[in-house]
Amino acid sequence: MARVHNFSAGPAALPESVLADVAAELMDYRGCGMSVLEMSHRSATYQQIYDETEACLRRILSIPDTYRVLFLQGGATLEFAAIPMNLMRYGRAGYVVSGNFAKKAWQEAARYGEAELLATSEDTHFDRIPDLAPVAERCAAGDLDYVHICQNNTIFGTMYRELPDTGDVPLVADVSSCFLSLPLDVERYGLIYAGAQKNAGPAGVTVIIVREDLIADGPALPICPSYLNFRTQADKGSMLNTPNTFGIYLCGKVFAWIEQTGGLRAMEERNRAKAELLYRVLDDSALFRGTAEPSSRSIANVTFTCGDADLDAAFVAGAAERGIVGVGGHRLVGGMRASIYNAVSMGAVESLVSYMRSFEAEHAPSARSL
Ligand SMILES: *Cc1c(COP(=O)(O)O)cnc(C)c1O
Repeated sequence: MARVHNFSAGPAALPESVLADVAAELMDYRGCGMSVLEMSHRSATYQQIYDETEACLRRILSIPDTYRVLFLQGGATLEFAAIPMNLMRYGRAGYVVSGNFAKKAWQEAARYGEAELLATSEDTHFDRIPDLAPVAERCAAGDLDYVHICQNNTIFGTMYRELPDTGDVPLVADVSSCFLSLPLDVERYGLIYAGAQKNAGPAGVTVIIVREDLIADGPALPICPSYLNFRTQADKGSMLNTPNTFGIYLCGKVFAWIEQTGGLRAMEERNRAKAELLYRVLDDSALFRGTAEPSSRSIANVTFTCGDADLDAAFVAGAAERGIVGVGGHRLVGGMRASIYNAVSMGAVESLVSYMRSFEAEHAPSARSL
């Protein structure tokens, strides 16, 4: 069995032990005589899988009892609409636009109410997290339902160092690509959401963690579809209809793997070590350069370029020949991106680095002039 070094941004690498465990249970889940794929979501066996999945997530993230956890479908993208429909009571929310997904969230919210642009880094091609001072200023007025941020910008390779000060205004964060990469202080947020396929499981599951009081009265807008009604979904244990049963089961396996391998502090330590190695190579390189401002660099997605589209393409093609896949940048920005989520080992990063060094030796301007 030859497994590649997978740097894909999502769906992304999963821990090998999780895949092996799922394979072992696939035909006959713990003596049930059937696969989890074939099991009723209303069965006691499945309910136990669901409950343990939620309990494990609560343990690793230290989620307070005042927060509800939902496992829904539709990806982070559907939440761009669900969040304003549930939370816009004044009909007005603030958005920080730090990248492509943040912009999509802002544009989608504008269909349901007033979506105010509080800060953006679009003028510098989203190479940094914008200055957040205007966010604190605007929040002081007290008439915003929430402030939305995208905490890690998957395409541009930037991540918040510090959260904006939103005072009493609930902070809502798309954490899709940094979810479970590091500890989060859940109480700093009103709502956190993440598509699972980056770091938490397979595509088709969206995790939502929401402060109970924000959904106490049901959705803000009557047009909110029943499926997206957070109050109803919380009351129904995410089972208003058939959930992504297998996806949630797989997320549970990943959560257990995180817990068994040291929890979120250990994940953060490993992710920082992988990121530091890559950024050190980029900073010392005569060929490659990182595209994110150093003070905004992500520990989940490392973006870089040779500054020449043909060389970048040659790098990506050469990587694939060496079993290093998924390092092409997003189609919007080109260049390269190494997504170094929890399941990407230091060994995989070392292989990438060693390929970068040999590519550089061959193609760097200084090497050519020798
Ligand atoms: C991948 C991603 C999305 C889109 O997720 P879908 O599950 O495809 O809807 C949104 N936000 C961020 C930060 C992402 O990384």
